Amino acid sequence: MFSKILIANRGEIACRVIKTARRMGIKTVAVYSEADANALHVERADEAIAIGPAPSAQSYLVADRIIAACLATGAQAVHPGYGFLSEKAAFCQALANHGIAFIGPDVPAIAAMGDKIESKKLARAAGVSTVPGFLGVIADEGEAVAIARDVGFPVMIKASAGGGGKGMRVAYDEAQVRDGFRSARNEARSSFADDRVFIEKYIEQPRHIEIQILADGQGTTLYLGERECSIQRRHQKVIEEAPSPFLDAATRRAMGEQAVALARAVNYRSAGTVEFIVDARRNFFFLEMNTRLQVEHPVTEMVVGLDLVEQMIRIAAGEKLALRQDDITLSGWAVEARVYAEDPLRGFLPSTGRIARYRPPAEDTAPHGSVRVDTGVFEGGEISMFYDPMIAKLITHGADRDGAILKMRDALDCFEIRGVAHNISFLSALMNHPRFVAGRLTTNFIAEEFPSGFGGVSVDDATRHRLIAVAAATHRRIVERDRQISGQVAGLRSPVASDWVVRIGRINHPVTVGLVDGGAVVTIDAVDGVGPGLAVRSGWEIGDSLWTGTVDGIALSVQIDRLGVGYRLTHGGAQLPVQVLSPAAAVLADLMPVKLPPDMSRFLLSPMPGLLVSLAVAEGAEIKAGQELAVVEAMKMENILRADHDGVVAKIHATTGSSLAVDQAILEFA
Ligand code: ADP
Repeated sequence: MFSKILIANRGEIACRVIKTARRMGIKTVAVYSEADANALHVERADEAIAIGPAPSAQSYLVADRIIAACLATGAQAVHPGYGFLSEKAAFCQALANHGIAFIGPDVPAIAAMGDKIESKKLARAAGVSTVPGFLGVIADEGEAVAIARDVGFPVMIKASAGGGGKGMRVAYDEAQVRDGFRSARNEARSSFADDRVFIEKYIEQPRHIEIQILADGQGTTLYLGERECSIQRRHQKVIEEAPSPFLDAATRRAMGEQAVALARAVNYRSAGTVEFIVDARRNFFFLEMNTRLQVEHPVTEMVVGLDLVEQMIRIAAGEKLALRQDDITLSGWAVEARVYAEDPLRGFLPSTGRIARYRPPAEDTAPHGSVRVDTGVFEGGEISMFYDPMIAKLITHGADRDGAILKMRDALDCFEIRGVAHNISFLSALMNHPRFVAGRLTTNFIAEEFPSGFGGVSVDDATRHRLIAVAAATHRRIVERDRQISGQVAGLRSPVASDWVVRIGRINHPVTVGLVDGGAVVTIDAVDGVGPGLAVRSGWEIGDSLWTGTVDGIALSVQIDRLGVGYRLTHGGAQLPVQVLSPAAAVLADLMPVKLPPDMSRFLLSPMPGLLVSLAVAEGAEIKAGQELAVVEAMKMENILRADHDGVVAKIHATTGSSLAVDQAILEFA
């Protein structure tokens, strides 16, 4: 066994690999860029080596720096995580040249699976079912149209070197084929420096289901069940689960056996994933093989009861798998939600900055435990603009799918993040969506169910009443405590009243609150003047930002932030600003004018934090709707801001090269 390994990655996956290595008694070396000097993976590792500036092209992607770090620290093997160098055959070869082991597959397997066209040919030869299509490089638009006609519409145009959902276009007619061919090719050229594209049938109502395999390179190749990853946004996975609610035992077995056949065909060693697209009639077709650990591997670990990183390390060290296919059983259900620093209410724009508060839900990772958090950040740390804005992966396990979903809902309710925007409200909305709960998934789920984006969620009446009860009970406890403060003006220490009004927006909900049992139980005698009331029980203490307890016997987790004289309650993906007022104050509150937000329609505002790369107009310029006004760069992407109506530029507020906050004014129209 190795005594020291290096992790050529950052964030949650570096921390996750370190965790297993530690448990196995293996020393760990982290590598980090300038932006990551204080990152969690650096702190968690036994040693850490700086490998260059923040942009990954100058640090995490530089194979020579990683190899130098191995040589400097005496690391005998490298775990690449996912992304970065994990599927670069040349890196793997360079390690081998220096006698350093790669904790992953061998060079030929990586090379064979690295190209979509080549891997499909291989899969076909190995008897794996592939998407009907044309596995040649397409020369021009004319040829693309001819092939699309041949394959039959709709078709998918794909970059052979593609990955991460880039360089993919769906086309329903010839015009879309021409457009899609051109844009897929351009995107492939700029993203992968390889503009080969091919065309295959677009599978309608597709589900993305993938098979985890594990091979020791010494004769044993196993399939560890499937993961369904159909909940995607722009071809990027958001929610994954294991097993799939769609597969029957026979399909699972057929897919597993084909995945194993493909793995054997390339002499696969280590953990790997064979991705399939599955149509509404359970026909399945090979998409690609990922020759690395996947982001979503924890759901497999939770239902199979194996540590995949441990298996990868053991296999890389030359051990034989001690398991046979019959030993692999799936127990219960696991769901993973990817928590990202992005604002779902603003078109999922990435968010960066300091994480002012970070309190993930409590983990329960004992055997058959039910909550796991894989994270790479900490409270006070930063989400940098240089990398993937993932904050954490939240994984829950239950006896069945409903159980896992229920756990996930509560875990999301308990997940406290402040300081950066995050997508927890969106993840909660997914977990509460009736179609998700029913398991009727396709990769178009999000596009179909949120056609005009995500507008937030509202709570149902029953939940609203429970939250009103929590607010009233909490407020009463706070007022009660306030009355205990010594030295108050005589006469103000009057007993706390039991009649209150919980005000949400401009709607008043009268409640009556009584204290029972030393303050631990609050009885709401009536809400909105209607009884019977709700019993509120909680161990909540003043100052806690997370309230957990029961209302009327129903377990509930609610985040409570002080918001001026009121509170903001967060639950089920919804945020409720509430005030708890005396009945007299509520009457007066009704008389208060509503403060309207200022009218910013004359301003061009930066839609995201970023860099003002260029301004295309000057003061006094007359502009037409659609005309380019400015370019803002954020997360390595240039965003062109255009005029949405005709007008005249009255004033420029920002200078080229400056950093912009979200909603900062760039220019003003007359
Ligand atoms: P990448 O390597 O960029 O992730 P994949 O080939 O794995 O690309 O495809 C990503 C996603 O695109 C799949 O999960 C699926 O949602 C969709 N997709 C890919 N090929 C097809 C197809 N032929 N028909 C329908 N959907 C497809």
